[in-house]
Amino acid sequence: MSRDVASIEGLSVAFGRPPTQVLALRSVSLTLRAGQITGIVGESGSGKSTLALALIGLLPQAARVTEGAIRIGNQNIAGLPEARLRAIRGARVSMVFQDPMTALSPSRTIGGHLLDAQHRDRASGRSALRTRAIEVLRKVGVPDPAAQLDRYPHQLSGGMRQRVAIAMALLGRPELLIADEITTALDVTLEAQILHLLRELRSEIDGAILFISHNLGAIAEICDQVAVFYAGELVEEGPVRDIFHSPLHPYTRALRDCDPARIEGAARHLPSIPGETPVVRAPPTGCIFAPRCSLATELCRTKVPVWAAIAEGRGVRCHLAVSKT
Ligand code: SF4
Repeated sequence: MSRDVASIEGLSVAFGRPPTQVLALRSVSLTLRAGQITGIVGESGSGKSTLALALIGLLPQAARVTEGAIRIGNQNIAGLPEARLRAIRGARVSMVFQDPMTALSPSRTIGGHLLDAQHRDRASGRSALRTRAIEVLRKVGVPDPAAQLDRYPHQLSGGMRQRVAIAMALLGRPELLIADEITTALDVTLEAQILHLLRELRSEIDGAILFISHNLGAIAEICDQVAVFYAGELVEEGPVRDIFHSPLHPYTRALRDCDPARIEGAARHLPSIPGETPVVRAPPTGCIFAPRCSLATELCRTKVPVWAAIAEGRGVRCHLAVSKT
């Protein structure tokens, strides 16, 4: 078993205060291991992005961790002051966003961005930093990398900008790389290239990759482990093959069964399930998925299902699934 890079232990995050608060994450536990790509899947409002922001210490001011721990290595970063989080960001945890312009300033050259991303190594000298920037650009598939250093973000295509954003994230040699919907704005060809790149990086970086997407096909294609989120809860986790071939939770099954062809095909975005993800303001009194679950019983409506670990890296939160295992 490979080393644990990050572990989220019983994490709950709330936005605002009662009675209008939103319980964005509730008692989430998840371990991210070196050499693995873990996929996070779920509809809008499932808590995917809140989890990513918590992991990199970028939760908005209105959010607070109400319980639990976020360990990067042995260090619990939940509740650390901003100055200490800044030392972790980029160096131990890096994030790439859907829109690469989130990380790129239109008025700075690509070289300027890549030198800034290595500010902790500035004692090595400008020439060494420039050489490393070229190396990393080459690694992420940017052609003629030396020539790109003098260009501005608007002079690059969307796919190239995303590669530059990935290069910036890699320059700090992070243990954990978070990719949040990074292929969503790209066309199918560019998406395939970026997925291929992530797969290559898995074996090259000495760390873990967290791949957040509502694209089931992309998850199935590159992830080793998958965590399924619904309305702020982790409802199922397992190896990618188990999640797609023998899902245990009715929500996972519904995602997969809505349109199986899309999972294999090119336009493989998350299909829609009848009903809506609820906004949770108070701890639920039954299964949070019950209003949308065709298998719901009285027990489901009156008792919250607890997380049941079935095997190493395999678990589910569902009364029915547990009774069958
Ligand atoms: Fe459906 Fe009941 Fe399982 Fe919830 S606990 S997912 S309502 S079967």
